[in-house]
Amino acid sequence: MICEIVINNISRHTDNIYHYLAPEKLNVSVGQRVIVPFGRGNKPLEGYVLGICDKSEYKNLKEISSLVDDYIYFNEKTADLIKFLHHRYFSPYCDIIKAVLPRGVSLKMVTVVYLAENDGEFIKSKVKNSLVKERIIEALKENGGSCELDELCKNIGRKSITQPLKSLLSDGVVYTELKKEEGQKDRYIKLVSLDIEREEAYRMCENLSKRARAQARVIEVLCENESVSLLELLEICETSKSVVDALEKKGIVKIVEILRPFDEELIELKEDNLTLTYEQKQAVEKIGESIDNDRNNTFLIHGVTGSGKTEVYLKLIEKCMNLGRQSLFLVPEISLTPQMVAQVKSRFGSHVAVIHSMLTVRKRYEEWKRIKDGEVFVVVGARSAIFSPLENLGLIIIDEEHEGTYKSESSPRYHTIEVARFRAKSEGATLVLASATPSFESYWRAKSGKYILIELKNRVNNQNLPSVATVDMRAELENGNYSIFSQRLKSEISKNLKNRQQTILFLNKRGYSSFVSCRKCGYVPKCPNCDISLTYHKNGDFLVCHYCDYKTEKLNECPNCGSGQIRFFGLGTQKVTDEISKLFPSATYLRMDADTTSKRFSHEEILNKFRDEKTDILVGTQMITKGLDFENVTLVGVIAADLSLYQDDFRAGEKTFSLLTQVVGRAGRGEKEGRAVVQTYYPENEIFEYASNQDYEKFYQNEIALRRQMMYPPFCEIINFTSSSDSEQTAFNALLNFRKELLREIKERNVKADVFGVQKAPMHKINNKYRFRFIMKMNYNREIYERIHTILKNLYSDSISIVVDVNPVNMY
Ligand code: ADP
Ligand code: ZN
Ligand code: ZN
Repeated sequence: MICEIVINNISRHTDNIYHYLAPEKLNVSVGQRVIVPFGRGNKPLEGYVLGICDKSEYKNLKEISSLVDDYIYFNEKTADLIKFLHHRYFSPYCDIIKAVLPRGVSLKMVTVVYLAENDGEFIKSKVKNSLVKERIIEALKENGGSCELDELCKNIGRKSITQPLKSLLSDGVVYTELKKEEGQKDRYIKLVSLDIEREEAYRMCENLSKRARAQARVIEVLCENESVSLLELLEICETSKSVVDALEKKGIVKIVEILRPFDEELIELKEDNLTLTYEQKQAVEKIGESIDNDRNNTFLIHGVTGSGKTEVYLKLIEKCMNLGRQSLFLVPEISLTPQMVAQVKSRFGSHVAVIHSMLTVRKRYEEWKRIKDGEVFVVVGARSAIFSPLENLGLIIIDEEHEGTYKSESSPRYHTIEVARFRAKSEGATLVLASATPSFESYWRAKSGKYILIELKNRVNNQNLPSVATVDMRAELENGNYSIFSQRLKSEISKNLKNRQQTILFLNKRGYSSFVSCRKCGYVPKCPNCDISLTYHKNGDFLVCHYCDYKTEKLNECPNCGSGQIRFFGLGTQKVTDEISKLFPSATYLRMDADTTSKRFSHEEILNKFRDEKTDILVGTQMITKGLDFENVTLVGVIAADLSLYQDDFRAGEKTFSLLTQVVGRAGRGEKEGRAVVQTYYPENEIFEYASNQDYEKFYQNEIALRRQMMYPPFCEIINFTSSSDSEQTAFNALLNFRKELLREIKERNVKADVFGVQKAPMHKINNKYRFRFIMKMNYNREIYERIHTILKNLYSDSISIVVDVNPVNMY
């Protein structure tokens, strides 16, 4: 029997499928962890069995040396998924395995050895020929019948007892278990994660290991785990905080303090005996039929905000459970959706597993085991939960499917929806995507008949969607109003204060944005080739396009109106709250953004305060667009709608529309009607008309035409190639060669593709590494993908790394 083995090693040199013979006595199967002799020196390396085949084109195959343990880590369907992920996202196998298996599998877990119940004679007969075995038994007895493995070794003075222990295990004299750990009780946790690329970290590890073992160990653990709580990290690495601090100082790791995810007692539960509305019932029936018949359909629920999508999910999960099948329920970010999680838990109790990044490594491992052992019917989680090892999957739900968080931005750089499609197909499950503002990719698929579209057009309470007023901020300036609030917004806020109703003020700021605009006429310079807002470069005094490298002089004067007021756009939530205190000194307000939530208050604390104490105004960023359901909120104000509109991103319009719809949808969810005020410097942009009428369909029609014309997804895919190296020249040349080879293949195969030139990456120098990138537009093509894999392998060296990102959500 021949096994396909992938080596659990980060180097691209070994990122292949290798063939090994499986000795009969080992009884190897797919999903097992094995040791194989590797390379000329037959160095023993660890790997996983990815497949089994009869023939190999290679001669003189070597044999697998041994199994690491008896455990089957994944099944054949997962093995297929791993192969798909490798091909599609150009990630090394070891990264994919790290994503698919629970983080922590490859960490040293605390194994406890127990003495099995046997009569004395039996034990004696099994240990009589071995002193070590005898001493193991003695030590166990002394310890009351159980002992941690490490402790046991120490007790009998041996470095390792693998062999004797193995034989005792197979004789049934002892058994082992992984030690359970109690959850951390601290309200705040410090989370540590890498602040550099994983590949780079690995190399650093190798160099460090001689000089600074402790630091190397910390990095190694962080390579395996996206983030680990500081306490746990210190425990695993048996080191002190100063080591981690030193790494932080060097910019290799980062430490963030966060609040524990959420206290379930704090969350108010909704009634769960709702009578479904007509639309909800229709949706449940239609999708339910697909589940009943094991059909692998994909549904897209396009449901307005407040249309009761959650209830539809819960009914479907219940249905699936009654059929004895399992469901996977994905949300964009678990800490932002405590209400949702609590609801699922209250309905399905112990049948639920919740997976999120703030679980301890061990807890994550335990949840993973519980799922793998078939103990749960529902898994709720963010992106990475898509890999949950459910064996009898009937339903996958992806809520707010348009959210960028579904795309992974570190290796493997997968898109959750694609992975979900693959799984649903291979496992015969029904896939449900849902959003009030579906991504254009998804909506286009629905329109082309690839997905089944289900529309929920009405709110459950039959309340109207909020009425939206768009305000021209240029006119405000002209009339001498220099405040960040327009007259209209001011008067609406006072009205709400008088009526004791609540207001949400929203600032759609997204991380890094540096476009310039004319404060007088709203003009924003754009790239003539790509229709993307140009980005200002501080150190060169020019404007560039981040797609095609088009470059132009910095403007001092607006080409549209001649005004000299052409400048940066920048605004923070602090400025908004300052303005509130100035204009409405008696109003109470709360601020919610990354700054405030990571330190003093958690989301729920802020939100509960807002609800219970009837705080007048809540000011926030993106975070407040999701899932909030407050009856007394009747006014939503958007301070500067333009902030997200001019990102250097072809999805800027789509993202802005979606943000506006979501945030406006927070108003009027109770009995009272809601209203919204949207402030902009450029009301001529059609997006505001569509957003104020909440007309997704029209907006889509308009934008999709543009996408088709400019060749953007869904009409092509975008692949981003980024090189980085200590040497600027190396980084540049490597990518140039890469591109040349790629172009040759494209030409030879006569494939339709747009390959842009190599340019400096928007963040050109990070951590003393120089970065270059180029972009390609092309539809998926198997041969080209395979060629890219080969080029990657050929170009690989220790001094350069090249990252390929398929359909990135952020272009920088
Ligand atoms: P969406 O996710 O579509 O914006 P939600 O699922 O949050 O909407 O539902 C909005 C509100 O309506 C929630 O408070 C929910 O409890 C309530 N709700 C849902 N379905 C019904 C129903 N059939 N009857 C009454 N209330 C409902
Ligand atoms: Zn102008
Ligand atoms: Zn361009």
